[in-house]
Amino acid sequence: MENKVITVTSPLLPSLDDFMPYLQDIWNRKWLTNNGHYHQELEKALCEYLEVPYISLFTNGTLPLIVALQTLRITGEVITTPYSFVATTHSLWWNGIKPVFVDIDLDTCNIDPEKIEAAITPKTTAIMPVHVYGKPCNMERIQSIADKYGLKVIYDAAHAFGVKMNGKSVLNAGDMSTLSFHATKVYNTVEGGALICHDEKMKKRIDYLKNFGFAGETEIVAPGINGKMDEIRAAYGLLNLKQVDVAIEARRQVAIRYREALRKVSGINFMEDMPGVSHNYSYFPIFVDARKYGMTRDELYFKMKEQDVLGRRYFYPLISEFSTYRGLESARPENLPVAHKVADSVICLPMHHALSVDDVRRILEIIAKN
Ligand SMILES: *Cc1c(COP(=O)(O)O)cnc(C)c1O
Repeated sequence: MENKVITVTSPLLPSLDDFMPYLQDIWNRKWLTNNGHYHQELEKALCEYLEVPYISLFTNGTLPLIVALQTLRITGEVITTPYSFVATTHSLWWNGIKPVFVDIDLDTCNIDPEKIEAAITPKTTAIMPVHVYGKPCNMERIQSIADKYGLKVIYDAAHAFGVKMNGKSVLNAGDMSTLSFHATKVYNTVEGGALICHDEKMKKRIDYLKNFGFAGETEIVAPGINGKMDEIRAAYGLLNLKQVDVAIEARRQVAIRYREALRKVSGINFMEDMPGVSHNYSYFPIFVDARKYGMTRDELYFKMKEQDVLGRRYFYPLISEFSTYRGLESARPENLPVAHKVADSVICLPMHHALSVDDVRRILEIIAKN
């Protein structure tokens, strides 16, 4: 029998039957974008679900990063992590800001707060950390450094939808947090994203900036961009929000099975849940210790691929290795030893709400049998 291909992720889709009445209503209203009915509904629903005061919807998860930097008028140098999706650093480049890479912490894969201070110069204006795999950064430590040096903090929280620490949303940390609602994420609006801030004035400025800077029919208050989410995707988002908790629980069950089996496999390391954190199980990275496991990361990755199990080497290569950034002083591998070690050993296993018990068994068999 042919194996079915097991993909690393699979989009959470609302049922078409449920979606049709929404489409009919949008057709009736003939208001397709520009802060329409469903756009407003989704902003309200997400504020409640995520327990954040203000949220602005965007058409993807990269524009909120770019707009956050514009909103806070960030210039000069920004301290960030090389271990992320490339959009994190691209958002700095698009604002003419010099990224300064700081190494990561081995346990969380997040920026190592203890290495931030050494990278601060008179030109540093902000820190842009990432809650990698949805694991919260050391937000307290990062904030104390930011306060000491008068820096802003913008979290790329693309992986951290719904993640809470000690009962509180991690999305309220720092000055702003961004989300991605791309099809591959825990919660999706096909393409989409959001910017979370803590006061009404800031929300107003964000909303101007995502709509060309329009503050009225004839008034432009800033050189804005077009980052608006449309009504169709906002309605789709409302429906997906109703089932995201069930999807996260299904992911948690997969994580439990993975951990139980992988504990017995020498040379395969993985992350445990963090105390006090409610996770969203957005990714399940494993780290291959080639010497103990008897096979390199790439050998295992391609062996899985041959058997139609598609993992992803997330995040490899590091952002600091891409041609745009590799010439930077802070991109030198000697400056980023931990990030290199992690990037060279990681495979994200398939992780989504629709993985069956059999799928998980098949994946684990390949990894255990080497
Ligand atoms: C997905 C992602 C983004 C970008 O989101 P898009 O919606 O694809 O533009 C940014 N940062 C991180 C860490 C991501 O994983």
